Amino acid sequence: MKSLYFKEEHNLFRDSVRKFLQKEVIPFINAWEEERRIPKEIFKKMGEQGYLGLNFPAEYGGVGADFWYSVVFLEEIAKVGAGGFPTAVSVHQYMAINHIFRAGSDFLKQKYLVPAIAGEKVAALGISEPGAGSDVASIRTKAVKDGDFYIINGAKTFITNGTYGDFITLAVSTNPENKAGGISLIVVDLDSEGITRTKLKKMGWHSSDTAEISFDNVRVPKENLVGVENFGFYYIMESFQLERLVAGIMAVASSKWILEETIRYMHEREAFGRKIAKYQTLRHTIADLATELYAAEQMVYHTCWLQNEGEVAVKECSMVKLHCSELANKVVDRCLQVFGGYGYMEDYLVCRAYRDARVGTIAGGTSEIMREIIAKMMIDDVEYKPVYS
Ligand SMILES: Cc1cc2nc3c(=O)[nH]c(=O)nc-3n(C[C@H](O)[C@H](O)[C@H](O)COP(=O)(O)OP(=O)(O)OC[C@H]3O[C@@H](n4cnc5c(N)ncnc54)[C@H](O)[C@@H]3O)c2cc1C
Repeated sequence: MKSLYFKEEHNLFRDSVRKFLQKEVIPFINAWEEERRIPKEIFKKMGEQGYLGLNFPAEYGGVGADFWYSVVFLEEIAKVGAGGFPTAVSVHQYMAINHIFRAGSDFLKQKYLVPAIAGEKVAALGISEPGAGSDVASIRTKAVKDGDFYIINGAKTFITNGTYGDFITLAVSTNPENKAGGISLIVVDLDSEGITRTKLKKMGWHSSDTAEISFDNVRVPKENLVGVENFGFYYIMESFQLERLVAGIMAVASSKWILEETIRYMHEREAFGRKIAKYQTLRHTIADLATELYAAEQMVYHTCWLQNEGEVAVKECSMVKLHCSELANKVVDRCLQVFGGYGYMEDYLVCRAYRDARVGTIAGGTSEIMREIIAKMMIDDVEYKPVYS
């Protein structure tokens, strides 16, 4: 179908990503879900294809492509049959290393961004703590200067790629009295002395590893500071927009995929001597969900266009995250119903999709926080100004 956004080169790229995933990911995804991890070699293979540096410039090993290549990539990885894999990959490329690219020194770019784009190092982003998730300004992990080093103490939780990752872009308090104005980002090697990583058991997203990480007098060279000291909160808030847009892109793509799986099942399953695809109530369910997904997709694409134009679209990205993650839960709930009892069985992908969708309204900013941001902008005329530029 014709598109305002995707050109022939994007369609060709989609074909090549699909082929790659068919060969290197989809046959193994069930095993990775069982093992609760993704082998590091797959990052290397994606790096060799250029998939981990789509929007980063060639001087760091990136492709320097427009944002629509990322949209294609994210849509395709969201359809591999499990939410854990796309989560791990998107946290690496669009969250953890994006900060290093946007604000990091050339030293940090060479040391961390270049190997991450090549897939030789896996990255995590450490913001959430046991005592502070939504309220980022209240984080308590501290970094205190000691000569040429920062000494870090504290704990992070729910960290994707935290158990097997190589480094973390870490939010720390460098000036606790200033709360939001006292937070900095520091890149920390995850095998540093004083770090303990504990893998967490989750409801879904099984193939992505999620960790609690404690820091006990961890010494980090002061060159590992990302950008300006005490600017971390503002970097995080701006970067959240890309994170939330990415979440929306994947929520719609994975919902469309599970809807297709459901339609396929409706053509196979019989009840009362007829294929269930003949029952009007189920047909209307599909029609309603497809319509809502079409509307959501257009909202996502328009916001991707803003992103590609270099806009920091806080309201639109928050709306995308809110609407698409809530809709993904609705879609997968209704789809599971169509599968009847089989939908509740682990052998059926809709069962995993149901578990995986649930966290969408929580991770990367809850629906309540999205509503707070939107309401502040709509009602109180609050504006958010870009910080990186
Ligand atoms: C699987 C998974 C992976 C994750 N990966 C990462 C990661 O890689 N890196 C990272 O840093 N974090 C990660 N997170 C953390 C995630 O971003 C947080 O869970 C999320 O921001 C919510 O924080 P919280 O869990 O502490 O909830 P809380 O902030 O404690 O919120 C609890 C409840 O209170 C509500 N609430 C809070 N404040 C308000 C308010 N002002 N108004 C109305 N309601 C409010 C919330 O919406 C929620 O319903 C991950 C989480 C999960 C589950």
